[in-house]
Amino acid sequence: MIRTADVVIIGGGATGASLAFQLACRGVTRVVVLERRFLAAGGTGRSLGIIRQLYPNPETCRMVLRSLRVFQNFRDLVGGESGYVGCGALIGVSTAMRPTLEHSLEIQREVGIRAELLKPEELARVEPRINPSGLGAVLYEPESGYGDPTAVTLGYAGAARDRGVVIEQGAAVTEIRVEGDRVAGVATENGERIDARVVVNAAGLWAGAVAALAGGALPIVVGRHPVFIVKRGAAFGPPHMVYLDLAGGAYVRPETGDLTLTGSLTEDESRHPMDPDLLGGEAGFEEAAEALERTSRALPSLADCRYQQGYAGAFDITPDWMPILDESPLRGFYVAAGMSGHGFKLCPAVGELMAELITEGRTTINRAPFRLDRFAARRPGGSFVGSFLGSS
Ligand SMILES: Cc1cc2nc3c(=O)[nH]c(=O)nc-3n(C[C@H](O)[C@H](O)[C@H](O)COP(=O)(O)OP(=O)(O)OC[C@H]3O[C@@H](n4cnc5c(N)ncnc54)[C@H](O)[C@@H]3O)c2cc1C
Repeated sequence: MIRTADVVIIGGGATGASLAFQLACRGVTRVVVLERRFLAAGGTGRSLGIIRQLYPNPETCRMVLRSLRVFQNFRDLVGGESGYVGCGALIGVSTAMRPTLEHSLEIQREVGIRAELLKPEELARVEPRINPSGLGAVLYEPESGYGDPTAVTLGYAGAARDRGVVIEQGAAVTEIRVEGDRVAGVATENGERIDARVVVNAAGLWAGAVAALAGGALPIVVGRHPVFIVKRGAAFGPPHMVYLDLAGGAYVRPETGDLTLTGSLTEDESRHPMDPDLLGGEAGFEEAAEALERTSRALPSLADCRYQQGYAGAFDITPDWMPILDESPLRGFYVAAGMSGHGFKLCPAVGELMAELITEGRTTINRAPFRLDRFAARRPGGSFVGSFLGSS
């Protein structure tokens, strides 16, 4: 059977669901989301959901602040729950990184983000359990914290459905149809054909494979990022804040039931490519031991935590660790992928920006840092830590 739609979105993760909602809110009702497995089956369902607001450029700072406001008011603005917990976030840097952090703080303030620079000795007033040695400064973001990526995706999907969007799960796109210089629609593994003049690649970790269906390529590497779950000891006390130790290379994010999610901030994940279909596989004991050593250096009272489990996560990483939000060279075929580990905290603003781009051809937030052609203009080099501060 051949159907028609105004927009087909490939991928039912946080990005695809947010965009579907935003299009429907702008009156584009003939929207079909095709998800090859189930909603949030990809990177979204494995995400830590950390919301921090430190970025090296004003555009991404604006997007994360806008997204934070949506998470904080999700029930009213979208519907459903975002799971937002505003426990606060601390970001520790070395003395060498301090000048870059100060510059980023200026950008945060210009944009309206609440943030404060602490000296290491001032940490005790905010979170005395963090080890200040090796730190040159600490950024405190009182409104940051974490949310629930699966709940957010389901909230957006439910609200989009209420506005007429069709969401099909178990519907893998296997063909992208092209007519002349523009996209003409898709076909699925179920033998369905949907004709549409706009198709969006929101396939996250599989975005490269989806681009290839249209004969294109994206500068995206799928890089492994293992996550470890530990149980805090009874003596630990109340839950900690989100802490990102850029100097020591560790992070912690509290979870319910005395659990902490932790991992490393030292690796450049793009040097550890992973088959995205291995997402969620078990992590090795040795890599867990190495990461937990760094974690307990950052937060010594976690030294007696009990290891529960580890799993392989992965990021869709661009060369500069910033998303690609653009129309591809094939007219009508858009890309919202390469989220580089930021796709949850940015998903409300990404949905808005992409919906503006598709319906109006322009965006409120300057799209320059997210354009596809930026990689041709310069030789980008990035890292996860660099996506906080930029290069010094
Ligand atoms: C371990 C881990 C920790 C993270 N931590 C954070 C964090 O703390 N904060 C933060 O902001 N971000 C974090 N992220 C990143 C963030 O979660 C992701 O960037 C975001 O969820 C990606 O959403 P997405 O919709 O773009 O992609 P995905 O969630 O990967 O969704 C893409 C969807 O496309 C579907 N698909 C693929 N191919 C096809 C096809 N051919 N046809 C139809 N459907 C298809 C997939 O099944 C998948 O459901 C983390 C990610 C991971 C894995």
